Amino acid sequence: MADPMAIADRLQAILGPSGLVPGPELAQRPAFPPYSCGSPLLVRPASTAELSAVLALCHETRTPVVVHGGRTGLVGGCTSGPGDLVVSTERLTAMAPVDVTGRTLEAGAGVTIAAAQAAAEDAGLLLAVDWGARGTATVGGGIATNAGGNQVFRYGMMREQVLGLEAVLADGTILSSMGRVIKNNAGPDPRQILIGSEGCFGVITRAVLRLRPRMPQRSTALVALQRFDCVPRLLDRLESGMDGRLTSFEAMWRGFHAPAARILARPPVDPQSPFVVLCEASGSDEAELSARMEGVLADLLGSGDISDAVIAGSERERADFWAIRDNVGVLFQLPNATLFDVSLPIAAMADYTADLEQSVRAAFGEVPFMLFGHLADQNLHIAFALPDDLASTHHRAEALVYDPLSRIPGASMSAEHGIGLLKRPWLGRTRTPEEIAIMRRLKAALDPAGILNPGLVVAQDVADGS
Ligand SMILES: Cc1cc2nc3c(=O)[nH]c(=O)nc-3n(C[C@H](O)[C@H](O)[C@H](O)COP(=O)(O)OP(=O)(O)OC[C@H]3O[C@@H](n4cnc5c(N)ncnc54)[C@H](O)[C@@H]3O)c2cc1C
Repeated sequence: MADPMAIADRLQAILGPSGLVPGPELAQRPAFPPYSCGSPLLVRPASTAELSAVLALCHETRTPVVVHGGRTGLVGGCTSGPGDLVVSTERLTAMAPVDVTGRTLEAGAGVTIAAAQAAAEDAGLLLAVDWGARGTATVGGGIATNAGGNQVFRYGMMREQVLGLEAVLADGTILSSMGRVIKNNAGPDPRQILIGSEGCFGVITRAVLRLRPRMPQRSTALVALQRFDCVPRLLDRLESGMDGRLTSFEAMWRGFHAPAARILARPPVDPQSPFVVLCEASGSDEAELSARMEGVLADLLGSGDISDAVIAGSERERADFWAIRDNVGVLFQLPNATLFDVSLPIAAMADYTADLEQSVRAAFGEVPFMLFGHLADQNLHIAFALPDDLASTHHRAEALVYDPLSRIPGASMSAEHGIGLLKRPWLGRTRTPEEIAIMRRLKAALDPAGILNPGLVVAQDVADGS
């Protein structure tokens, strides 16, 4: 593999001086979560054609490339070393006017999720993906990681929002698949290979995103429960009671909710409740939505399934409820924090979480242990403190989380954050050897020189975790 500085002059000839950012400046860029950035050079193509020329040059010279979107990914995918050239999508920010009739939005890969959401909203429509990093995460990064977030069980993950896609492959080939229709069965679909491929198969440059009718009214509640078996019952009752208009169902266990709720001077429900769920339904008639929400929650209070419930009476209160759920900063305050994002059938969750907490305590003592997640998607986020930051300690913690998942049919060791660098060794816990082999064959076919995000996802040392 070649040194990126050896092609700096040729890169400048393609991009002009403003298209290059030198390593020292690059390392100063703020990022949350932090990641290791050792690259000597970042390039910022301003068009698909420029990116194509850059990648053709990298392919020719065998220069490794690490792709940067908003750098909010949680699995170390933006990590670079001294031999890597960073390619950023930060100048690919063009947005076409919303097509209101076709309900589509065409956006460059570098447009932030918040900006795309705002454009949709200005046109009276909804871009139906949303997550805490919306202000910085990009359309391209969201597609590359197939991000999910807070409304997935109603609208699907990023994959379900992408009608069309343009990408540049490792050798500079521009793959344009800019569909605008929901149905397109004209043979196998190249879009689907790129979505969720974490920059290993190509660099996404533009997308046509599907928009939905915007439901301007919401009813949002925080609900306290004493037992886990009442949580899926609450979900069932709300799904039917809200007439299929439930959009969010975010569960928080006490270990997460109690510290997260400190973001408010007066938490809306008792921080000591074993389980707290943020529920939100969207529709066009606020009074009708609230009446339905109140009805369901009153019934469940009566039956003892829930112990307390507060419905937001204003947009301010709604924002407060979400501020608790989005207060993921508490995870990063854990000493030597280790974070996980898994999914498993709800029926297996009570046993899995109880066994996990017990094995974590047996291994590491009474460390803080946090659980929360997009429960209607069977998605659980797990975080706990570790006694030290040694790689071997993190490895023991990872084995405690991932090994039991391999025995739960249908579980996944990565629900929505992807594999990146950090989860690579554990991919084989819930993917079969045949699935991993297919991923590698696709990588070899699309990037034969192995220059794109070379250390990520399907690198050769994947899979045994031992
Ligand atoms: C506070 C917070 C909350 C979050 N909540 C959620 C959540 O609820 N649900 C969820 O799914 N995720 C969540 N995430 C993680 C989520 O995966 C990222 O926010 C987002 O998807 C990555 O977008 P990005 O533009 O920052 O990409 P980056 O972090 O820059 O990149 C992520 C990966 O994609 C690659 N990549 C980036 N852009 C492109 C491109 N244009 N073409 C090809 N490859 C590319 C990178 O090389 C890297 O491997 C959260 C993150 C944070 C920090």
